[in-house]
Amino acid sequence: PLSKLPHVGTTIFTTISQLASAHNAINLSQGFPNFDPDPELLKLVSEAYKKGNNQYAPMQGALSLREAISEKIERLYGTYYHPESEITVTAGATQAIFTTIAAFVHPKDEVIVIEPAFDCYEPAISLFGGKSVAMPLVGNDFKMNWSAFKSAISPKTKMVICNTPHNPTGTIWSKDDMLQLQEILRDTDIILLSDEVYEHIVFDGKLHESASKYPDLAVRSVICSSFGKTFHATGWKMGYCVAPKPLMREFQKVHQFNVFSVNHPLQLALAQYLNDSQHYLNLGGFYQEKRDVFLNAIKGSRFKMVPSAGTYFQLLEYSEITDEKDTVFAERLIKEHKLASIPVSVFCKSDYDKKFLRFCFAKTNDVLDKASQILNSI
Ligand code: GLN
Repeated sequence: PLSKLPHVGTTIFTTISQLASAHNAINLSQGFPNFDPDPELLKLVSEAYKKGNNQYAPMQGALSLREAISEKIERLYGTYYHPESEITVTAGATQAIFTTIAAFVHPKDEVIVIEPAFDCYEPAISLFGGKSVAMPLVGNDFKMNWSAFKSAISPKTKMVICNTPHNPTGTIWSKDDMLQLQEILRDTDIILLSDEVYEHIVFDGKLHESASKYPDLAVRSVICSSFGKTFHATGWKMGYCVAPKPLMREFQKVHQFNVFSVNHPLQLALAQYLNDSQHYLNLGGFYQEKRDVFLNAIKGSRFKMVPSAGTYFQLLEYSEITDEKDTVFAERLIKEHKLASIPVSVFCKSDYDKKFLRFCFAKTNDVLDKASQILNSI
């Protein structure tokens, strides 16, 4: 057959964004800010281009950036990753995730995917002949059922993919969740792919629980993160991943022949900016304010909400408004009310019949205001 991915179509982000623009709708669907990075960072980027850094970076990434990443992780989470052998700069976190799956998933291996799950995991698993095993989060608060998770592990389980703060639900894992995960994976050879791209966007005084904080998780983890999310620059497609040396060696075997190395001037600018600025430490507060502007404005609406605990996404539950399936309601919201969101069911392969839409609040207040007016009128 021609297709290796017969079950895969166009991503929901492309589909919804096209529909939103065709109907002139306010777009709170795909997750990206409608504002620019810090002017200081933009200045460093343009200087880096002018300083003649326009040829290949080292395969693993510019050393200054790997050092800055290593320092940041050690400062925040207390774990040291060696810049020489345990860090790779990637073309966004999606590439890091894809490369990790490519490097470790053999045909017939099982990969446990916690659902709803960001849409890039499953196609990569399929492409390399793996089988994804869906582990649904339960209830309208999307909690982990750790005993079900434990039962889903089989001798074929090669990898578990987890994601905190969680896209699309805006939930975060607690220390207790991490300890349960650590306990269940102890004495196995299972690799943990930890998608932590929203690590700096956590609210209400809570802490991000990185897999790197838990020694028995860290030894088996490839942790992916994103400069796009952290620095309001999703269009740069810059991210990184860290892992202990034996895992990173395998990761780099794939990376060097797929990507080889990523944008050099951007890496040098990001290194400088990470060293000069503590911007990312204020990111939680920055987005918490946006979440609150949005939630306060729609308090009187018929949508039900549990405030997002992290990420720049807010789920709204709409069962009081309609019985429609989320994909149908999301489409109607665009066409009739000119507001675009993401139906959560598209992130699920397993049975799912909850009534939630995902809204991105990484937007200026004028846009959040307009969206709120629409939501209040429904
Ligand atoms: N992470 C973004 C989101 O969830 C989308 C990224 C993408 O379109 N691939 O909206």
